[in-house]
Amino acid sequence: MAFAEQIKKLEQEGWTKHPVACTMCGAFCGLVEMRKEGEPVSEKTVRIFPNPGHPQQGYCGRSAATMWVWNHPLRLKKPLKRVGEKGEGKFKEITWDEALDGIAGQLKTIVEKYGESSIASTSHTFSGFSKWITLPLGSPNNIGHASSCNAGGISGRHWVFGKGFDGAGKMEPDYANLRYLLLIGRSMGAAMGALHTLNIARANGARVVSIDPRMPDISYGDVDWVGIRPSTDAAFVMGLINRMIQDGTADFDFIQRFTNGAYLVRDNGRPLTQADVIEGGDKAKYVVANATGELSFRGLKKNEAGAVVFDEDPAFKAVLEGVAPVKLTDGTTIPVKTAYEVVKETAAPYTPEKVYEITGVEPGILLRIAKEFTNLKGVIDDGWYTSKNGTDVQLYQLICIANAMNGNIDIPGGLVVTAGAGFSVPSVSAGKGPNGEKWQMAKEKRIDKIVYPEASATFKVALQAAVTGKPYPIKGVFFVGTTMFHREANSQELAEQLKKLELCVVQDVLPQELVDYADYVLPATYFMERKEMAGVKWALNGSIYLSDPGLTPPKGCEARHDVWILLEILRRAFPEKAERVGYKECKTAEEFNKYFDAFTDKGFNKFLAKCESQKPGWAEKIKKDIETQGWSTIKTKKYNEYPYHKPFGTPSGKVEIYAFQSFKNEATEKAIAPVSGYIPSPAFTAPKKNSNEFILVSGKNCVTCSGLNMFTQPTRYLGDRTVWMNPVDAQRLGIRNGDMAEIEGIDTKYVGQARITVTKKVVPGAVFAFGFSGGNRTKHLVNDPEYQFVKEGINSHWFATGYAQPIFGNVANNSSVRIKKVRG
Ligand code: SF4
Repeated sequence: MAFAEQIKKLEQEGWTKHPVACTMCGAFCGLVEMRKEGEPVSEKTVRIFPNPGHPQQGYCGRSAATMWVWNHPLRLKKPLKRVGEKGEGKFKEITWDEALDGIAGQLKTIVEKYGESSIASTSHTFSGFSKWITLPLGSPNNIGHASSCNAGGISGRHWVFGKGFDGAGKMEPDYANLRYLLLIGRSMGAAMGALHTLNIARANGARVVSIDPRMPDISYGDVDWVGIRPSTDAAFVMGLINRMIQDGTADFDFIQRFTNGAYLVRDNGRPLTQADVIEGGDKAKYVVANATGELSFRGLKKNEAGAVVFDEDPAFKAVLEGVAPVKLTDGTTIPVKTAYEVVKETAAPYTPEKVYEITGVEPGILLRIAKEFTNLKGVIDDGWYTSKNGTDVQLYQLICIANAMNGNIDIPGGLVVTAGAGFSVPSVSAGKGPNGEKWQMAKEKRIDKIVYPEASATFKVALQAAVTGKPYPIKGVFFVGTTMFHREANSQELAEQLKKLELCVVQDVLPQELVDYADYVLPATYFMERKEMAGVKWALNGSIYLSDPGLTPPKGCEARHDVWILLEILRRAFPEKAERVGYKECKTAEEFNKYFDAFTDKGFNKFLAKCESQKPGWAEKIKKDIETQGWSTIKTKKYNEYPYHKPFGTPSGKVEIYAFQSFKNEATEKAIAPVSGYIPSPAFTAPKKNSNEFILVSGKNCVTCSGLNMFTQPTRYLGDRTVWMNPVDAQRLGIRNGDMAEIEGIDTKYVGQARITVTKKVVPGAVFAFGFSGGNRTKHLVNDPEYQFVKEGINSHWFATGYAQPIFGNVANNSSVRIKKVRG
């Protein structure tokens, strides 16, 4: 029976319907919670369904396990205070008052001694609750998890599409209308809820090809899997670009008109500007030439309405190759190339044979994919969690360039700019409260931005500062719902850094490994127990949703809302700072919900008023949609806007297949080429061929791979905590399916154990393990024999060096390891 019918049937039987936005992995997919009223809440009386028709319809193995979290036997129920050594994981139960007063006292002492900036906070979800302590305190150090997730993708997109088009969900493949999708290292079974939409396109005949060292779960159906050596994806993409150029199948008209491909570049690689060729010319205007050598200038200007628009002669037919030397204002004549020519020269060495040598992908496969990609105007998915090798910004930059050269930008089935609903809830930001309050922040810059100026968020800098005191000391950290050992690479370093903190507070739902290092562990609610409203992130059209599951924590569990915990600590330490966000003591959960939900109501009412002023009657429709289905679509995506009529956020406003931003400063110039080639991974020692050394690759699937889900019983049976090895390698090492093996990090020397699955689903020379699948080393809080399975297997981050890419700060999670059989 279809989900919609099942839901209807339950409604007829008296079950109530509640919209939910899932955060089992953080993507806020649309679910429906069906509740059998009048009976005690359990996984039998609360059933979770995909929300039919929701623009980001959720459903994966993780969300199906939602209710196994609610009443989990290991659920953190009361505040805990450390009684053993840091890392020992020994705690005693204390009251909320004892915990909050104890933390507030330590917070005050640290801030008085070292200043506000010595306190940092971090979380994993888009709600970013952790900011509610650091920002009102005046510390800039609320730092997210991007460095271990999509930071490489953000920077790669930033370099090609520019500011405003690089963030999460802003540019996405048009999944619903795809003709052809190339997934490079991206498993659609991982987070970010686009799988359902993609499946609609697959049902309509879209082709999907996955290029990955391991066969991802999406390939178990009709998706082609092409195995590739780990960390060589950039060479494959370069091979693709080279083929498009050599075969003449690139979209040259798009390149000429809508990228900076025709822009002239000097012999030092820098763009030629109007100021170089005309006395008093504009440095922000770039130079193009036509077939007769005439020059023209392209730039940006503001129109009468104040909007930034292109400033160029649309009739000027710029050439992509063969421009004669150009005379400068000082009278000298210099040779020039077009940006496209530089791309062409950079890609030229990546012949199918060369690509095969680097990647192991047969020349015939590359040729076939290049043909399909261009014939069908396909798109390469540039997003989300993939295994990282420390050269990821360059890889994502190349993926964006390949998409642009295929002319698939902002067209149906291409890589498109999503519409966005324009809805926001008043919140706290640096120096600004949700009611318009203002305050002075500490003078220090956010600590990761000092070390990695282009970073989206590199939290590891804060923990390094806990040890070294540089660039300035960090003494206290609030970890809000984030499984650090499954998030940050190099677990050994992490453990040592955590021990150095004077104050380590962990707020969570289940006892993941980080709790062992906490001074205080505080039980928090999760998405089934709190209300939220926001824009739908991963959808083509702009929609808003309500998540209102309305459960309260189970009997005996004193879990509280993360923001209440943080604001109560702040109020007890610095009442005047809590008032910066309008917070005064809230004793009960109801009192707090009233305070916090008022922001949502305010944002929603303002939004409704805006919509009503645009179209009378619209506000009522939105309210009704939300009430009956939990979501409402506000804005329909218009295609062919960027870069046809509206500029991107790059210096030229065009899609930059040759990044002018690389010349931003000395550091960026050194860190990244305007168009990159393949760079072997600097993050780990390369393994010796045909030995017991391998690259350890991690990845996700649609069953496990969530910090909450890894504890649930469904994962015990559906999850996979083994390490995959190709039969060729297994035979050489005398390893059989199911054998227990010892795995040693070549660089980190860390040793772990896991069972081996011998399978052709991973390429020779690489081994694979699911991220978040197990390998939890929590010592004392997980002693229930039923849950020992969370300790099985390995966590790939134990073996990774934690290498962060200069300037950008995105971290590599792949590593190289030695493997030997322990027993059968
Ligand atoms: S992908 Fe799955 S776990 Fe993640 S938010 Fe969506 S439904 Fe939930």
